[in-house]
Amino acid sequence: MRGRNEIYVERGRGLCGLRGISSLVIVCGLLLSGCQRAAGDESADMLLTGGKVYTFTWDDPAADGAPAKSAPYSSAGWRPDAEAIAVRGSRIVFVGSSRDAEKYRGPRTRVVDLQGATVIPGLVDSHTHVVGLGEKQSRVDLIGVQTEEEAVERVVAFASKVPKGEWVVGRGWDEGAWANRYPTMKLLSERAPHHPVLLVGLHSFAVWGNKLAFERAKITRDTQSPAGGTIVKDRNGEPAGILRDRATTLLTSAIPPPTDDQLKAYVLAGLNVMARDGYVAVHEAGADSRLMRAFESLAAEGKLPVRVYAMLSARDADLCRAWLARGPKTDATDKLTVRSVKAFYDGALGSRGAFLLADYSDKPGHRGVTSEGAGFDQKLVAEMMKSGFQVAIHAIGDAGNRGTLDFIELANGGKGNPGINIRDRVEHAQVIHPDDFQRFAKLGVIASMQPPHCAEDKAWAEDRLGPERVKGAYAWRALRRNGTRLIFNSDLVGSDHNIFYGLHAAITRRDMRLQPPNGWYPEQRVRPEEAMRAYSTWAAYAAFWEKESGVIAPGRWADITVMDIDPLNVGESDPARLLQGKIRMTMVAGQIVHSSGEEIR
Ligand SMILES: [Zn+2]
Repeated sequence: MRGRNEIYVERGRGLCGLRGISSLVIVCGLLLSGCQRAAGDESADMLLTGGKVYTFTWDDPAADGAPAKSAPYSSAGWRPDAEAIAVRGSRIVFVGSSRDAEKYRGPRTRVVDLQGATVIPGLVDSHTHVVGLGEKQSRVDLIGVQTEEEAVERVVAFASKVPKGEWVVGRGWDEGAWANRYPTMKLLSERAPHHPVLLVGLHSFAVWGNKLAFERAKITRDTQSPAGGTIVKDRNGEPAGILRDRATTLLTSAIPPPTDDQLKAYVLAGLNVMARDGYVAVHEAGADSRLMRAFESLAAEGKLPVRVYAMLSARDADLCRAWLARGPKTDATDKLTVRSVKAFYDGALGSRGAFLLADYSDKPGHRGVTSEGAGFDQKLVAEMMKSGFQVAIHAIGDAGNRGTLDFIELANGGKGNPGINIRDRVEHAQVIHPDDFQRFAKLGVIASMQPPHCAEDKAWAEDRLGPERVKGAYAWRALRRNGTRLIFNSDLVGSDHNIFYGLHAAITRRDMRLQPPNGWYPEQRVRPEEAMRAYSTWAAYAAFWEKESGVIAPGRWADITVMDIDPLNVGESDPARLLQGKIRMTMVAGQIVHSSGEEIR
């Protein structure tokens, strides 16, 4: 401990040379918070100075997005309302000018010069599936490889870090571009003989494997190609190394499900990506028993890099019953909160599984999921709500949303009742009938929505819904106007969680190629402050953290995001430029969990 502190005595004057130092800083922070401070010592563990700090402590914007009178906003634009933050332990102790912050500087205080970077309350992705994100980090990335040799070299490099006998999975070689010169298993088997290797094509229409993979999957010269698929065979009738279309599952199904340790590693890898990308917390949208075990184990070991607000999967009835008996876990000192349950009402709009009140415009006679009632155990979920769990229900179609609101109303005691939790959530809230907008606000239901979905689904959403219903789709402004609380998120890994992409989509209703130039149904756009709050302040409310988090103020958790772009001013004046934004630093509970190491010293 002494050695650690000495580093910061010596370097504590803001010259830490942060390149590659983030892990060092994390250790330092942990140790410092464990140090005994002399009585009366007011000094901070860390001082962030010279930043453009937006505290978001002013009032919420109006329903049309106009900033509140108390906001640091004028016709000239947004003005940061602080420069410096002092942190002690896991909390903020001071917010104000760099000069006034000086009194928190002690011999052991680590000082970070923000060099004019923008500081905002920590970002929250309020609907994630982190295992998929972590899994992605554990695959060989073959996107952009030009030749078989290049792909094999990447596999060999990756396999050198994987215990012999374990599967090596990759993705991204272009089965379209390589269609006339498919590789074989020969080189792959020679160069990676000790691991079963499975390499999925960019579009998932073909997989390429080595000898060991084919052996594990028991695919031999005698195996017949299934209907709708092909096992490519060589001149001698032996499997050559490529499976196409429906035959691909012969190999993919041979991979065993992840062990508990692997699952934990995926979770950690996924959460580390989120920390790197500026997020201080995720709301995990549906955790089953295995995933909960991983979260709880990482929390107990103090290894969660960002906070996790876990929604229990209603599909896992045993898990829900166990938590019913135990009650919500609201103490977040280990960064894990469990007080929500996730259920599904209907399907997705693209695949026409979303439940609609009238027929799909591009499929007469079809209204999506039409089974009686909601697609979840209503009794169990209602019981959990009574025991203090928030419910978060996936609803996409207008009938799905209406049914979900009906359920929430009933579970909260029926019409006219103010409700038990009053913070239940509709996940996606994608298509809403005009009659139902007001019900969200009346029931205190939070609309948990995905700006990237709007940017991506606009290509076909109107085909599904027609020109009238589409006006109630991804209708952020309509919800705000009716007094509904909005939160924004990515639903990763389905969509990119990059905050700058999310903000840009929310503010412009354009995709990454800036199409359409004026935005898709632009009347539903939100303003930069609203988008920022939906990713921070309002997300804190949705997790019942509004007294701990969501704004930068003394006493709050020291959960902070630093970026190289001012999202409020750039979002107002030139939103396309948001897409170039970069995260500079992420702090969770007073510890720097990520630093780009370039500009902040
Ligand atoms: Zn989801």
